[in-house]
Amino acid sequence: MGQNIFSTSMVTLSKSAVRQNVRFVKSKLSDNVLLSAVLKGNAYGHGIKEMVPLYESAGVKHLSVFSIHEAEEVCKVKKNSTQVMIMGWMEDEETEWVIENDVEFYVFEIGRLKAAVEFARKVGKKAKVHLEVETGMNRTGFQEEHLAEVIEMMKSNEEHIVFEGLCTHYAGAESITNYLRVMDQIKKYNQLYDIFKEHGLIPNRRHTACSAAAMSYPETQMDMVRIGILLYGFWPSQETFIAYQRSNGYGQEGLSRRVKHPLKRVISWRSKIMSVKEVPVGEFIGYGTSYQATKKMKIATVPVGYAYGFARSLSNQGRVIVNGKRVAVISTVNMNLMIINVTECKNVGKGDEVIMIGSNGKVNVTVSSFGELSNQLNYELLSRLPMDIPRKVVI
Ligand SMILES: *Cc1c(COP(=O)(O)O)cnc(C)c1O
Repeated sequence: MGQNIFSTSMVTLSKSAVRQNVRFVKSKLSDNVLLSAVLKGNAYGHGIKEMVPLYESAGVKHLSVFSIHEAEEVCKVKKNSTQVMIMGWMEDEETEWVIENDVEFYVFEIGRLKAAVEFARKVGKKAKVHLEVETGMNRTGFQEEHLAEVIEMMKSNEEHIVFEGLCTHYAGAESITNYLRVMDQIKKYNQLYDIFKEHGLIPNRRHTACSAAAMSYPETQMDMVRIGILLYGFWPSQETFIAYQRSNGYGQEGLSRRVKHPLKRVISWRSKIMSVKEVPVGEFIGYGTSYQATKKMKIATVPVGYAYGFARSLSNQGRVIVNGKRVAVISTVNMNLMIINVTECKNVGKGDEVIMIGSNGKVNVTVSSFGELSNQLNYELLSRLPMDIPRKVVI
């Protein structure tokens, strides 16, 4: 399949879906809010080098990654004018490359701020820093007691540092159970922003929102939003999607029909049936005893297992599409293959297409279409899709 002869599956990426998702997200942003597309985790498994040009052609001008390695991948393929921002990992010594390449970066420790000054001086170019502040997630970020030192360093190094952004991240904006915590974080962020302002330090951009925050708490959009999952066509959680539908009238009198899904899946992931066989009633299928045939069954094997990105947690849980029908993954997912129940499929045979993510027009499977087992599953499964699966862009 494809050019990679070792691959047992194939990913396709839809250009029109990217365009539609960008258009939808922009329609939800207030005026003058910059959209940064998040490309961490190999672009949520879609592939950095394919997604960068797709975002650019959809009008996105700012891209966010987790690590310097991802920033390097982006810089190999991006247009000159596209801005890149590192939100997480880089070694202090790597700051030199980062500054030389005009890459913006998060600073959440004094050591990194010192490295920024040192290398900006060495390179002879300003470092574009985004100061991350701690507002309640307790992951990374300067706390209030650090600010005096940070402010002093920022003020005494204005010729080396651009105060590009002041940022934070919410601890679970996709669920209403975190409402109070998010509200506290917003308040804390604004307090810390005021401290910088009192000292005459105004960031070029204030940014705090991921997909869920941008949708559910519009006041978090500020000057820029960092959007990942929505741009790939998935909702951060079922709750966020239902809230969106209700805000468009779903569930109210006279409008009982579901609101049309405004996002389109960018990715589809397909393989083929490797072989088909019949199993008599009473037999156990696969390793161990987790699945027993309760009637005479027809099963098929698909050469995609957990080593290829199909999570073992989908054992006896996952769904795939075969010949237009949604069928169940049965027994445990193996390293190299899975077993599916094709008892109800007519004329099914070796070589037939199997869709792990995507649709055949009518029937859909998302990676977590089996009852939203977990909101985090979409993020996890997507980002674990192996980098060496061949990827093809389609219109
Ligand atoms: C992943 C991430 C985002 C984007 O989150 P989505 O829910 O995919 O929109 C934004 N900001 C930071 C710091 C992140 O790590």
